[in-house]
Amino acid sequence: MKKKYAAVVLLTGVLMLNSCAANNSDSSKATVTDDIKSSGSVFAMDTYMTITAYGQNGKKGIEAAQKEITKLEKLWSVTDENSEIYTLDHSGGTEVPVSAETEELLNFAIDMHWQTKGALDITLYPVLRAWGFTTGEYCVPDDSEISALLECKGVERISVGNGKAYIPKNTEIDLGAVAKGCAGDAAAKALKEHGVTSALLDLGGNIQTIGDAKPDGTKWKVGIRDPFGEGSIGTLAVGECAVITSGGYERFFEKDGVIYKHILDPETGRPADSGLASVTVIGKEGRLCDALSTSLYVMGLDDACAYWRDSVDLEMILISDDGGVYVTEGIAENFSPKVENVTVIER
Ligand code: AMP
Ligand code: MG
Repeated sequence: MKKKYAAVVLLTGVLMLNSCAANNSDSSKATVTDDIKSSGSVFAMDTYMTITAYGQNGKKGIEAAQKEITKLEKLWSVTDENSEIYTLDHSGGTEVPVSAETEELLNFAIDMHWQTKGALDITLYPVLRAWGFTTGEYCVPDDSEISALLECKGVERISVGNGKAYIPKNTEIDLGAVAKGCAGDAAAKALKEHGVTSALLDLGGNIQTIGDAKPDGTKWKVGIRDPFGEGSIGTLAVGECAVITSGGYERFFEKDGVIYKHILDPETGRPADSGLASVTVIGKEGRLCDALSTSLYVMGLDDACAYWRDSVDLEMILISDDGGVYVTEGIAENFSPKVENVTVIER
């Protein structure tokens, strides 16, 4: 369970905004304009999100970004009866109208399913529900229930185009693996459209930045969460990019001494047991990093490395169940680990 967010549930839909002069560490070399620091928070997509923007356009930019995030949540929530995804999931096999945003994300998720050889599968929702990951009412489904539910999955069952989407009765989808990254991209776009050139978006631990450096000229510093405890295993210095992490620690339950984690292997319908404790993907596009952090976690170390070797403009930090840290060569120099066992992955 995302315990750390429980206390902020009451903030759903509420944006808190404030502006002030940046503190000295952030503003030592800043111009007068950059000295203004605004921040806003919102609870959306089951997570607490904060945006910090520098410069005089920050406040307006944050308001626009928050509106985008809220709009997308309303489209993609699986529990809001008015959302497009809820409507699709309850369509009983009839075609439903969808917005351009939903059509685009569905097409992207389908494409990523094939690119990741099935590791990303947005039609796993009924299986996730059987495990209780959608409600927090956890249970271990029996083999026959999982097999029956797996019969209903398959992205090839989705038809999408011309403002409409269709899934057959008994197939249900959930965009949880890609929505936050996509919302981050939309929020960053809204900030930029309002003239913001320097900002940090923290969408429940998924980081997206605007600007190749902070106003003081230094790189953004992103902590890489320790999947085995509190705190970080190191810090990554980045320019403008998305840094998105998937890990079993984000949502799990224990039954009879066994830990069950929320990312499922679409082949088995059971929690992925690939030997990875967390996967961080660094790249330009939030939705791509989000799709990949989930699916590379399912694939495991070797297949994730193979995927990376075939890719461009992507970097990764993988942490294995035995505590090994694997960093791709493109970011190795920018990573300051707090641990010893770091391996650099080469092309
Ligand atoms: P993320 O935090 O981006 O890794 O997304 C994890 C969420 O995606 C889970 O909480 C589920 O809602 C959903 N999910 C779990 N396993 C998969 C999978 N293999 N493919 C697509 N979505 C998944
Ligand atoms: Mg993801």
